[in-house]
Amino acid sequence: MSKYQRAYLRNAAADSAEDTAGVSPRSFIMRPRQRTKKQSVQQERTVVIIKPDGVKRGLTGEIIRRIEQRGLKVIALNMIWATKQQMDGHYSRDRDYIINLGENTLRTYTQYEPETDIKAEYGTVDPHKIGLRVRQWLVEFMSSGPVIKMIVEGIHAIDMVRKLVGKTIPAYAEMGTIRGDYSIDSPLLANRHQRALRNIVHASGTPEEAAHEIEHWFAPEEVYDYKRAEEDIMF
Ligand code: ADP
Ligand code: MG
Repeated sequence: MSKYQRAYLRNAAADSAEDTAGVSPRSFIMRPRQRTKKQSVQQERTVVIIKPDGVKRGLTGEIIRRIEQRGLKVIALNMIWATKQQMDGHYSRDRDYIINLGENTLRTYTQYEPETDIKAEYGTVDPHKIGLRVRQWLVEFMSSGPVIKMIVEGIHAIDMVRKLVGKTIPAYAEMGTIRGDYSIDSPLLANRHQRALRNIVHASGTPEEAAHEIEHWFAPEEVYDYKRAEEDIMF
């Protein structure tokens, strides 16, 4: 099993626990962090994408405000209307990631609508097959309109941003988080309409995801090195 796969499994397990039981926010689960010698603890990087629903609802400023307010630094930022191919390359093709997407979908039915005939609805109960379908909806949704993509840098940037963003399923996202404050979609509704969950914002979940996404979306010359005023005061 690759390092990438192991990270995904760890992440998926944390996500499932968090999303079904509503306990143990992933932000508090300590995971080993790998850092190059050159990168200091203040320089962890993560990718944030404001999804088409966030852009169309005019939430761009609010999301960036929350990131900056936290003391995190935006070091690259632009708007694009991505192709399906570009979005396909963004999301993992890892089997475990796809199975996790499928299992999360099945779990939502168990919790909210246990009488649903999954087989009749999807033609299958195989989490991998269902996960592939959800991934496809996701790729279509993410390329359905312009998105804002950015790299955010700072202390524990990956976990800090996930905490600001909140849990995947809006119903479980705490008030005060971006998803908790601004989204109200349900996977049940989304799946019935054969579309991805509209939850406003994407944020890398692991260092491996962040590294892949930085490489996928940004050329080195699009990333800027500068100092925020607080750095002199705080560190
Ligand atoms: P996160 O965005 O919190 O990291 P995932 O990586 O598990 O969550 O899933 C990626 C995206 O796929 C989610 O943000 C959401 O838009 C969509 N998604 C996840 N699960 C479902 C589902 N059951 N039905 C529809 N869309 C889903
Ligand atoms: Mg994710």
